[in-house]
Amino acid sequence: MYGIKQDWVLDKRPRHFVLDDYEGGAPRWCAGCGCNSILGAVHKICRDEQLPPEKTLVVSGIGCSSRFPHYMKTYGFHSLHGRPLPVASGARSRRPDLHMFVVTGDGDCCAIGTAHWIHAIRYNMKMTVMLFDNNVYGLTKKQSSPTSKQGNTTNTHPFGAPLPPLNPLSVTLGITNASFVAQTVDWNPAHLYATLLRAHRHDGLSFVRIVQRCPHYMAGYWDSIQHQPEAHLVLRDEVGVPVDDAVARSYGNHLDHDPHDLAAAKELVLREDVLPIGLLYLNENAARYDEWTARGMGMSPADKLAGLQAELDRMSI
Ligand code: SF4
Ligand code: MG
Repeated sequence: MYGIKQDWVLDKRPRHFVLDDYEGGAPRWCAGCGCNSILGAVHKICRDEQLPPEKTLVVSGIGCSSRFPHYMKTYGFHSLHGRPLPVASGARSRRPDLHMFVVTGDGDCCAIGTAHWIHAIRYNMKMTVMLFDNNVYGLTKKQSSPTSKQGNTTNTHPFGAPLPPLNPLSVTLGITNASFVAQTVDWNPAHLYATLLRAHRHDGLSFVRIVQRCPHYMAGYWDSIQHQPEAHLVLRDEVGVPVDDAVARSYGNHLDHDPHDLAAAKELVLREDVLPIGLLYLNENAARYDEWTARGMGMSPADKLAGLQAELDRMSI
């Protein structure tokens, strides 16, 4: 006969997470796809920060990169096209305790999701937003995206994209209340990791544009940057993305940049001679909407009902 022993004491050992605690299903991305290295960086950040998997949420939209939550052994929400940011904002408004990552592609964020992007930046709720920018719609087989370079040939524009591309960094820097804007590349794991880790530790919404390779549809597209160390401009400062020896050795072009200088950040992201990587802009004092939505979360159901009733009474005529 089995029963519950009254004197049981739970043996609560400290938990220690390893990579396996975060690694979900085997990725179905193409070999060499930049999504793979970004996934590896996020797995490592979760382990190094010892984020409890049950307290970690990854929200994505639709696109190749948005398969990301399937490859995490955390909570995940593979949402609708262009909608990861409102989903994440809703989750954040009720769950200030979660560690949140948002995955969105250039089509997902910068086309159908543009309005949500603008307002999420302004709301500045704590989450790490990763823009996987490969300059193409990959999942739907090579259409021009808003960030495709002018003249780039795709299935929608076989004679070349006719318009100049939208710059997701200059757009983000132009949005009221932006608090953290950074850029990195998928092909330098050390810089990618350091940037995403710094973004994760930011108190507010961190927006990271990750220049991402799509070897299946855009083979060689980024070669002129990836294989030219001097085409990278590594940003250095006291509070931004730390530059370790490996990154310093890889890229010789460095710039001391004050990330609090918005005008300088706006100039940097327009440069076409180099790709600036690191923290472009930081405003630690930007207002956070999630601090406002968290008010009253500890109220009892009875108090909430009484408050609601009082408001309704106020409107009675
Ligand atoms: Fe990656 Fe491109 Fe393949 Fe999509 S199509 S998985 S973006 S390489
Ligand atoms: Mg894309």
